[in-house]
Amino acid sequence: MSEPINFYDLNQNGLTEFVVAAGHQKFRAKQLMKWVYHQGITEFSAMTDLSLAMRAWLAESVCFDLPEVVHHAVSKDGTAKWVVRLASGNCVETVLIPEKSEGRVRNTLCVSSQVGCMLDCTFCSTGKQGFNGNLSTAEIIGQVLIANQMLAERNEAVTNIVFMGMGEPLLNYEAVMAAADLMMDDFAFGLSKRRVTVSTAGLVPAIHEMMGRTDMSLAVSLHAPNDELRNGLVPLNRKYPIKELIRVCSDYIESLGERRSMTIEYTLMDGVNDKLSHAHELAELLANVRCKINLIPFNPFPGSGFKRPSMNRVRAFQTVLMQRGFATMLRTTRGDDIDAACGQLVGQVQDRTQRQARYREHLKAGRTAAQTRRIAAKELA
Ligand code: SAH
Repeated sequence: MSEPINFYDLNQNGLTEFVVAAGHQKFRAKQLMKWVYHQGITEFSAMTDLSLAMRAWLAESVCFDLPEVVHHAVSKDGTAKWVVRLASGNCVETVLIPEKSEGRVRNTLCVSSQVGCMLDCTFCSTGKQGFNGNLSTAEIIGQVLIANQMLAERNEAVTNIVFMGMGEPLLNYEAVMAAADLMMDDFAFGLSKRRVTVSTAGLVPAIHEMMGRTDMSLAVSLHAPNDELRNGLVPLNRKYPIKELIRVCSDYIESLGERRSMTIEYTLMDGVNDKLSHAHELAELLANVRCKINLIPFNPFPGSGFKRPSMNRVRAFQTVLMQRGFATMLRTTRGDDIDAACGQLVGQVQDRTQRQARYREHLKAGRTAAQTRRIAAKELA
């Protein structure tokens, strides 16, 4: 007997192939999905519209393993965070951000897609953890199920999902795409494509691959209006410079039609990328791009070497962009009392890259993250 397959690893296509390969009819996949995702039933014996033979086969071939919650915290502002342990023993974090506006509830879930991150953006604490592998589709979907379980207590559910937790989702392409399929599938979570967003530091070839594969929304972590500045903040930029990145994003957005637009994320760091001249340069750069801009005041972590700008500076930056016609939102800091704000997600990563250990050593020696990186680059050279 082969290992059972994890139900939550399969999107509708995958599940259909799986049941068909075992000699069952194609529509059984949809029936199964309705039981599991709509009714919350994972006991095959209760699935009365399936034959006894099929139920017996399923019981032997399918499991419903989910990551285990090892820590849960709720912030003063209602933001909730879970630390979940994966099959590999590593832990990642998931954050739920509830908002109420005009009587409507929005529950945005920020999911992790990798254990740590390979990209090592200078201002992000996840990068400092090093990297230890990809999450499976089931481990991503598990995060949604865990949040929904808590929300069900108040008759609510996750309404929006952003791949803005730990990791670079487009470096875990297949698992992330399958998870996104399930999030947007009416037989599973049924969220609108406008409410499921993948966020990337700018993996150009993967954005290209998304065309025709998915119609989920796209956010790009830009953080700088020119290559010189961005090279120092997002090392990936040296491989895929801004022009190429903006071009492929525009192509993707246009491929979706229907007046879709993308999100530009811009973390503001005091004296680094928050000058008014940067705002004007950004406006020039994005002049022909269908986008809205999300400004994120930098969230500090020990030894980062960066500071959050004053609220005045943040507002001034926002004003320039708004005056130049860009819908520009300020992402208010949520959940920082439970270390759940952007760039504060660290999980517990058994680091394979030694970056974590090196970073800790340098912290002890009183060096900043930027200095640490420079030293590390020299060590590697
Ligand atoms: N790797 C993907 C997904 C991570 S999203 C990406 O880069 O888009 C997390 C978002 O928070 C990104 O926009 C990231 O740049 C931003 N961020 C990281 N560290 C931060 C910090 N310390 N303060 C504020 N925002 C931060």
